[in-house]
Amino acid sequence: MKKISKSVITTATTILLAATMLSTANAELYAGKRTPGNGNIPYFIHSSVDNYSTNYTNIYTSAASSWNGINSHVSLSRVYETNNSKPDVYGVSTSQRTLQGEMICYDSYSASAPSHPSSNWLYAMTLVYDNNTPNEVAKKSAAVHEIGHTLGLAHTFQPNETSVMSEGNFFTAPRDYDKAQLNLKWP
Ligand SMILES: [Zn+2]
Repeated sequence: MKKISKSVITTATTILLAATMLSTANAELYAGKRTPGNGNIPYFIHSSVDNYSTNYTNIYTSAASSWNGINSHVSLSRVYETNNSKPDVYGVSTSQRTLQGEMICYDSYSASAPSHPSSNWLYAMTLVYDNNTPNEVAKKSAAVHEIGHTLGLAHTFQPNETSVMSEGNFFTAPRDYDKAQLNLKWP
């Protein structure tokens, strides 16, 4: 009985170690990404942003442009209708959740339930939670961060790197580390 237990523990430890190594290698990039457009991504700013005193149109256009010019495959461009271009949608929510923002991806245009960024998606919704972002810097940072998720970047946990993809940061543009990650994601 003890021998079996030890064997089970050893096996479990080996699997855990392998899983840890694997997740370390891939932790900061999602396995999936947006499939249409090959990185040329149209985005639509939802009219609900006008319900807020903060100028979210400015915040979103500047956040999107901060990701442009880093990688030749990645280009975010604003569109003004959703009928033909099937864009990503940027919006604002007053949700009481503790998040400052959220990226929600969908694998079908008629999907009622979100997909997961571990598999490819068709489009994403980027939200900034107005009530949870205390000031303009936090709102800008949340927008840049969530758009980074739409580009396939996950959270950064590197203690020696500064990153707009780390949680709770106040950077308002991608850092060098984020640019390198973007280039890894879109080779
Ligand atoms: Zn995040």
